[in-house]
Amino acid sequence: MTATSSFASQVSPIQIAEKLAQLIQCRTVSHPDRDEEDRAEFTRHVELLNQLFPAIADVVEQHTVGITGQLWHWKGQSDAKPLVLMAHQDVVPVESEADWEFAPFEGIIANGWIHGRGVLDDKGDLTCILQAAEELAQIDFTPRQDVYFFFGDCEEIAGPTATEAVEFLRNRGITPWMVIDEGGAIAHEAFPGVKIPVGVIGVSEKGIMDLLLEAQDSGGHASAPPNFGAVQRIARAITRLQRKPFPAIIHPVTEAMFKRLGENTPGVTGTVLKTIARPGRLPGELLARVGAEPAAMVRTTVAATELEGSDGTNVLARRAAVTLNIRISVTESVASTVEGIRKRISDPQIKHTVLTASEPSPISPVDSDQFALIESCMKDSHPEALPVPYLMMAATDSRFFTGISEHVYRFAPLAMDKQQRGAIHGTNESVAIEELAKGVQFYSKLLKAL
Ligand SMILES: [Zn+2]
Repeated sequence: MTATSSFASQVSPIQIAEKLAQLIQCRTVSHPDRDEEDRAEFTRHVELLNQLFPAIADVVEQHTVGITGQLWHWKGQSDAKPLVLMAHQDVVPVESEADWEFAPFEGIIANGWIHGRGVLDDKGDLTCILQAAEELAQIDFTPRQDVYFFFGDCEEIAGPTATEAVEFLRNRGITPWMVIDEGGAIAHEAFPGVKIPVGVIGVSEKGIMDLLLEAQDSGGHASAPPNFGAVQRIARAITRLQRKPFPAIIHPVTEAMFKRLGENTPGVTGTVLKTIARPGRLPGELLARVGAEPAAMVRTTVAATELEGSDGTNVLARRAAVTLNIRISVTESVASTVEGIRKRISDPQIKHTVLTASEPSPISPVDSDQFALIESCMKDSHPEALPVPYLMMAATDSRFFTGISEHVYRFAPLAMDKQQRGAIHGTNESVAIEELAKGVQFYSKLLKAL
């Protein structure tokens, strides 16, 4: 250990994992109908945060937002440039517990790994944040800047708690210097042919819209069907959207990401990555052909999800409908996307209704002290990883914070491979316990470097 290796956690990875295991045992499954949630599990989760991290819990001012969302204020030496560290307490449901190798709500630790719903999304990250703060609070450390911890209780259902937390801060005139939430990670096998782990730092996220398309018809008996009824109209609309996707464009952030990747990848793959790292349509269209994930990186995507027709096998549909789940690229807006859909379908008899919509997030600067600080902490916790900026395809609670801060970054300092990423919201979610220690190291360095 040299003098510059400043960090040594006082607890072992296994001890951090044991704390996480207790959080996993709380079934904090959020539900769009909040009355369906097991309130006692959420309450117990908050109690556990206090019991497992008593030193930091004692030194902060605790506020409850939403139902059980926690906004904790750790007073620093100065209230200028406050930092917000976020993670969410709720998890998505488990479809079939029997499909899991380890019971999903036990927090089982085996062979250097911890298993369970939420170990990656997002209780592992939450544990790392609080463990780092706990160890600093134990030695009476006071951060140079005010720190707010925000642990939402309904992120997975896009619930209102994050908005309430933002309102709370806004009412107090607080403009965070930086906000860090989940989203990016240390990704192994991030791109085909890229061998090094990549620390992807989300600087923006796509917008989301649920758009309902409806067609009406006179209906009637299925024994004498018309040539073109409501169902055919909806089917044609879906086909047209499939045939005419939104343009694939390499955004400057994506360009910067591929440039860094290309410069750090030898051989043919490196050359390909550097070739893609150009602005505009052509490289975008090429990338979109590689697969569904690369395509989602460069364009607005449209997924036809819920379909409705008649409710009798021998009844023609008087009304047919499809809901489109649309992820809006940062180069588009809700309005331009609705217009784009209308043009592509080109059928005035189809009615469009926006069910829910949120705009793509503003882009947080890559060329900033804040981004550089995340990079330098990553160098400490994961020196082998290459930090790159990226545009997130999924949504997080942090998008609401872009209303009060220009520097919102999505990054959780935990390494995961392709299979682990697939287990998020899926089966057999797991994380290596060594990673929890590295996560603590990341946040410890961050809190001390403010
Ligand atoms: Zn999450």
